[in-house]
Amino acid sequence: MRLILLGPPGAGKGTQAQRLVERHGIVQLSTGDMLRAAVAAGTEIGLKAKDIMASGGLVSDEIVIGIISDRIELPDAANGFILDGFPRTVPQAEALDALLKSKGLKLDAAVELRVNESALLQRVEARVAQMTERGETVRIDDTPEVLAKRLASYRTSTEPLVHYYSEKRKLVTIDGMMSIEEVTLEINRVLAAITESVGSVKKTARKAAKKKSPAKRESVVKPAKKAVKKAVKAPAKKAKAAKAAKKTVKKAVKKAAAKAVKAPKKAAKAASKGKTVKKAKKVAKKAVSAARKPAKTVKKAAKKRAKR
Ligand code: AMP
Repeated sequence: MRLILLGPPGAGKGTQAQRLVERHGIVQLSTGDMLRAAVAAGTEIGLKAKDIMASGGLVSDEIVIGIISDRIELPDAANGFILDGFPRTVPQAEALDALLKSKGLKLDAAVELRVNESALLQRVEARVAQMTERGETVRIDDTPEVLAKRLASYRTSTEPLVHYYSEKRKLVTIDGMMSIEEVTLEINRVLAAITESVGSVKKTARKAAKKKSPAKRESVVKPAKKAVKKAVKAPAKKAKAAKAAKKTVKKAVKKAAAKAVKAPKKAAKAASKGKTVKKAKKVAKKAVSAARKPAKTVKKAAKKRAKR
């Protein structure tokens, strides 16, 4: 299995990668770890990368592509690998495509861990606290200032990869705000669905290859390929539906709240209207009696005149 883990710093890529390593017997290739090792060893690459890493910038594409290209060649990567922290830019993704193609290898999925940015700072702070407690050396780029820069670089340079792999129908988006356990379960579920579908595509393709007519062959392979696409899209669809449901609930709550606010206003208006009517009735009564007064006076004068 060959996977890419996408997600901003603190999304939990390292933790999930370790779990995938155990489950699938593959290796984790973290460009960040490799670069840190190069810095510690004082190699030429390490010297070039040291200051850039400390400031939260990105090391040149040329350096990281070189590192990955060499690393993939090693025998322990033959069974598969998880790329953690690579690719980080579209040119790196394109270079990886070319690299895999030249070696006759295929990528199974790009797993994106989607997280809420405001939670990331807390996560990184917790990670630093745990490392300090264990007496481990804390990364010099794990500070709030550098994290802000790393996040900005993720947004501008790495996030476009979500679209890149979505176009290639390789993207799997997982809600990284769930617990570590739940994220692992969801990744495993999706990967199992992909593996199963790919397996059945291969099976049907083998069957189809036995059939002579190319049209017949296509009629067998096409639905199977469609099933794979569906399996990859399923979690994204689920997330979309949940988002839509959340929106509807939000709208309903907003409407109800607005109604509740308007209700007393309406009542007050009605009450005040009632007052006006009362007042108007009073005024009207007065007007009528005033109008009657001259009539009374005329009647009185007529009576007086008749008496005389
Ligand atoms: P990470 O451990 O993945 O957070 O990486 C730590 C630092 O190493 C990053 O902030 C970058 O400076 C550098 N780095 C790691 N991977 C890459 C990459 N693919 N492209 C450029 N720089 C990288």
